[in-house]
Amino acid sequence: MKQKKIYLDYAATTPLALEVLREMLPYLKKDFGNPSSIHTLGQIAQEGLDKARERVANFLNCSISEIFFTGSATEANNLAIFGLIKSSQKRGVKPHIITTQIEHHAVLEPCKELKKQGVEITYLEVNKEGLVKISALEKAIKENTVLVSIIYANNEIGTIQPIVEIGKLLQITNSKLKTKIYFHTDAVQAVNYLDCDVEKLGVDLLTLSAHKIYGPKGVGALYIKQGSPISPLIYGGGHESGLRSGTENVAGIAGLGKAIEEIEKSKKDIKRIEKLRNKLIDNILKNIPKAKLNGSREHRLANNVNVSIPGAEGESMVIALDQKGIAVSTGSACSSRSLKPSHVLLALGLLPKEAHGSLRFSLGKYTQEEDINKVLAVLPKIVQRLRKISPFK
Ligand code: PLP
Repeated sequence: MKQKKIYLDYAATTPLALEVLREMLPYLKKDFGNPSSIHTLGQIAQEGLDKARERVANFLNCSISEIFFTGSATEANNLAIFGLIKSSQKRGVKPHIITTQIEHHAVLEPCKELKKQGVEITYLEVNKEGLVKISALEKAIKENTVLVSIIYANNEIGTIQPIVEIGKLLQITNSKLKTKIYFHTDAVQAVNYLDCDVEKLGVDLLTLSAHKIYGPKGVGALYIKQGSPISPLIYGGGHESGLRSGTENVAGIAGLGKAIEEIEKSKKDIKRIEKLRNKLIDNILKNIPKAKLNGSREHRLANNVNVSIPGAEGESMVIALDQKGIAVSTGSACSSRSLKPSHVLLALGLLPKEAHGSLRFSLGKYTQEEDINKVLAVLPKIVQRLRKISPFK
């Protein structure tokens, strides 16, 4: 009998929702025009972009002129960071950035590159639960700090940062400073589950990605608060108000618009997902000796479970679960092909050995209770078998 596939890797990517596909299809077939063309086909494509921009702006509670479409969230993060630094350098500032040790690589790598170019970077530590301390941020601020970039909800451990409080602190600080500190958050993992009203959050820049919200891959967006000085990284025909040239991915952007609109409708499903998450956590901790939850229990995304299972290697557990038709991950999808222990788990204070024995389950809107039951039925046996052959005993 063919076994049912169980997908518990929604933080890596989500399946495309049917209503999103339906929204995209016309732009891939009959409405294929270039939005920059003056004729009717061009106008139809332009209307598709306008509708999507309006949907994203409504969701974030901002103006349509503050939404910029990109080719991914990685690109949006790059635009926020390099774009802001480039413009501050043009004004003669020697910039300083504050970020955290647990950012996604799409923030860490731009910072690493800027460091090579002489930009000062402070990486804030996090506590054992993965939370940034506001007092540490306050201490790290310097006269030349131009950017604070802090992930809203972590992709590996699901820890939710106090973005509203950080926004408030920066507003107070800004009122005393001559120069402004801009606040960026990577909200890729938060969008499905948390309030992303940019006014309430107090952010100047916010990144999101379509393929984490049941939309297509290869589409992202950056919210840029009116007046924030961002220089373009890609030059050409002047698309996206000159900030991101290149003919727009109309079907993909239309898909992003629809996907974001659908989030409001699925808000009531969050409690159901959270209940399943709690069942998974509680039973893993109860039934697998020495298993430990990574990240905060309280300040945690409704769909995230990340556990360390000493004596069983992460990759081996992923493969064994895959053989049972269950797709999970050891950490972030982008780095799971590298055998380096997760920088996020190390920042929580885990030993490399513990970080290697970690598993991430990320639930989503198609997850059912029977999927969780299946994991709970097979995982303890897999762990028992792997522990017997483990060199880490
Ligand atoms: N930021 C976070 C927190 C993510 O989880 C991801 C994807 O894993 C990204 C950025 C990158 O998104 P994209 O695949 O759209 O470049």
